[in-house]
Amino acid sequence: MAIIVAKFGGTSIGDGDRIRKAAQSVVKEYMQGRKVVVVVSAINKTTDDILQVVEGAIGESITEKQMADVVSMGEITSVRVFASTIESLGVKSEYMDPHMENWPVITDSNYLNAQIDFEETEKRSQGLRDLLDQGIIPVVCGFLGKDEEGNVTTLGRGGSDITAFLLGHCLQAEEVIIVTDVGGVMSTDPNKLTSAKKLDKISVEEMRDLATHGAQVLHPHALRYKDPKINAKIIGFEHGDLSAPGTEIIGPSGDEMLRTTTINNEPIAIIAVVGEEMMTKVGILAELTRALQNNCINIYGISTGQNSITLFVDKSTADTAHEILHEVVVEHPDMSSLSLGRDISMITVNSQDFIDTPGIITRITEPLRKNKINIVEISSSQTSVVLFVDWNDGKRAYEMVRSVLE
Ligand code: ADP
Ligand code: ASP
Ligand code: MG
Repeated sequence: MAIIVAKFGGTSIGDGDRIRKAAQSVVKEYMQGRKVVVVVSAINKTTDDILQVVEGAIGESITEKQMADVVSMGEITSVRVFASTIESLGVKSEYMDPHMENWPVITDSNYLNAQIDFEETEKRSQGLRDLLDQGIIPVVCGFLGKDEEGNVTTLGRGGSDITAFLLGHCLQAEEVIIVTDVGGVMSTDPNKLTSAKKLDKISVEEMRDLATHGAQVLHPHALRYKDPKINAKIIGFEHGDLSAPGTEIIGPSGDEMLRTTTINNEPIAIIAVVGEEMMTKVGILAELTRALQNNCINIYGISTGQNSITLFVDKSTADTAHEILHEVVVEHPDMSSLSLGRDISMITVNSQDFIDTPGIITRITEPLRKNKINIVEISSSQTSVVLFVDWNDGKRAYEMVRSVLE
């Protein structure tokens, strides 16, 4: 029988009426023969309220261990309310919190940003299966973990999403459903731009990048546990229906390696355009890229400096690009000259955990320094680092970077 994991965010269980509707939506699935594991956040803004009270009462002298214990009360309360509501609808339900023997999510002792012990959690998720087999709906605290000593830990703000995908993975669920306060994933934060439009689907890779860049709708670490076989969607709570359409999350398409390092097979050429105080002039970038676009030349990357803009293009298109950009530069009052540089290798390292791993750039660049490989350009974002080195150094640099990271 298919297992689904349904996670309810704070707003979707924001008051008694919403909790009843949420519980009804779970019971409806149960009645249709699906096994449902419920993961809940704290009711409404409880977590923020608790943090504010602690701030006023204790300030910064509270220990992380104490903080995790106190803040856990949001979810510790909400699982009890939710499970009782399911029972009031005539279906058996049991809540699970970290103080209980059968609690599944085991972590290290980094109390406020705990790392999950996946193997132990997977083993313990058998307890959830046992409940499901008895026709009981388990209601699990999102966001919380327990360390080896039995202390409460938390997975970081917004961590209930991680709990949902983690349990979905451990239980080989058919579907993970995230119920939230907006209709799904939108073209941008609908609370910032009212013209935001709902997306019917989004890939794991896109969702991860959106999340690591701050789109709160899903915790960026949640998708570490997204298996291509598990369906996933984000839906709005107002439907009161878990089969409502929202945004489907598709993939991942590649293997599930946390880090990948790639190098381009063909050389890339660098074209640098210079001009005085270019950074403060409007529209220069557009002039350059439009000229390349009109000639169907792809740009791999752009970096901008005070007095220069560097464009990376395929070597095979470099001579044409050079000529086209030259025409733009000589016509434009704010650009003075340009130069077509040597052949370059582009090494790209992707990882979802760069964002919270200090020292990644040092680890990547240190072996290159030791081996006297010059870095021509480097760019980094929250999930990737791209290095440009001389074509002749490319293969060696690639192997070094791979060996320190993978
Ligand atoms: P929950 O309490 O259900 O976990 P969150 O507040 O954590 O809900 O996440 C939902 C919020 O994410 C929305 O209210 C919205 O403001 C924000 N958000 C940011 N970017 C997006 C986006 N691209 N699509 C949808 N919501 C977004
Ligand atoms: N209640 C926690 C928070 O507000 C976890 C969550 O909602 O996902 O951060
Ligand atoms: Mg959230």
